[in-house]
Amino acid sequence: MTKQILKAYKVRLYPNDEQQIFFAKSFGCTRFIWNKMLADKIDYYQATKTTLNNTPAQYKKEFEWLKEVDSLALANVQQNLRVAYNKFFKQGSGFPKFKKKGIKDSYTTNNQKGTVAVTKNTVKLPKIGHINAKFPDKINGLIKSATISRKPSGKYFVSLLVETIVNELPKSQSNIGIDLGLTDFIVLSDGTKVANPKFLAKLQDKLAREQKILAKRRAAAKADQRKLSESRNYQKQKLKVAKVYEKITNKRADFLHKLSFNIIKNHDVIAIEDLNVKGMVKNHKLAKAISDSSWSLFTTMLAYKAEWYGKELVKIDRWFPSSKTCSNCDHLLTKAELPLSVRTWDCPNCLQRNDRDTNASINILNQGLILAKHSKTVGATGLA
Ligand SMILES: [Zn+2]
Repeated sequence: MTKQILKAYKVRLYPNDEQQIFFAKSFGCTRFIWNKMLADKIDYYQATKTTLNNTPAQYKKEFEWLKEVDSLALANVQQNLRVAYNKFFKQGSGFPKFKKKGIKDSYTTNNQKGTVAVTKNTVKLPKIGHINAKFPDKINGLIKSATISRKPSGKYFVSLLVETIVNELPKSQSNIGIDLGLTDFIVLSDGTKVANPKFLAKLQDKLAREQKILAKRRAAAKADQRKLSESRNYQKQKLKVAKVYEKITNKRADFLHKLSFNIIKNHDVIAIEDLNVKGMVKNHKLAKAISDSSWSLFTTMLAYKAEWYGKELVKIDRWFPSSKTCSNCDHLLTKAELPLSVRTWDCPNCLQRNDRDTNASINILNQGLILAKHSKTVGATGLA
């Protein structure tokens, strides 16, 4: 069966000087209009206790230079601001924040009958024309929108949202439970342990080293009463940190894409724990924060790939005692009986020897199969 999906393609852009100026203007104007509309909304609300429905168009008279950029980019700011307000009122997210220069510089435009298009080695964008580009994959389908961004490393990218067709993957007659490992990245119910890739640990060490140097340079500039923006050593180091950080992000995404695809390809029902990632990411220890956000990204990828390829992802309540339950006889250990240091344990009831993480992932699978829509048609397989 085929399915129509929206897929994002990240494409590296190589703008010339003139195009870089246009992008800088566009980032500046979208940031300006966001901040201006937000500030006016706040003032208006304080004065009248009602919401101001402002639009980018009404600012173009006063700020003529707004006309130099893509008007759809400004329209998308209005849309994003509306979404941010809705999230605040309806979902209890934080109040929309003002945007700062150099942080997440980007703008989004839409394709209107070919105003956004790709050739073999360029991307065409409204108001600026063809930009040299390098494509990771062939792009098939109708481009809906394009988000242009400049990373802290100075690299430019466009993320193209494309309406495309995927073929569902054949059923494998195998199901799997996945546990977030303590030392491994994940542990599967068939006994497979997937380690955190070595290059990530190496890059994380490098990032920590470069960040230490950056902190020293920040302190040195402060001691000399120099502005950070004028301290060349600090800026050079900041760029270095940004490059290592981006490398981690990219390599990690590659790793997670391949891993999630293989799991989806090889299994029909995939059961995972629904962890409270929001709380997890608040942890400030670097390595921990990165592994937590990896898990979050990994589950996101599993979710949309399962949807694309006709498989089923089941999330298990995070209070389910997956570690403390014996997967053979359901005997439940107390918390005191299973401290974090214990890697294997013998069930006092049925005497089965349980590997801590594999046992947990088998429980996750069994629980997942109870909840799965397709559980009646496919049996539990892949058990250790
Ligand atoms: Zn047991």
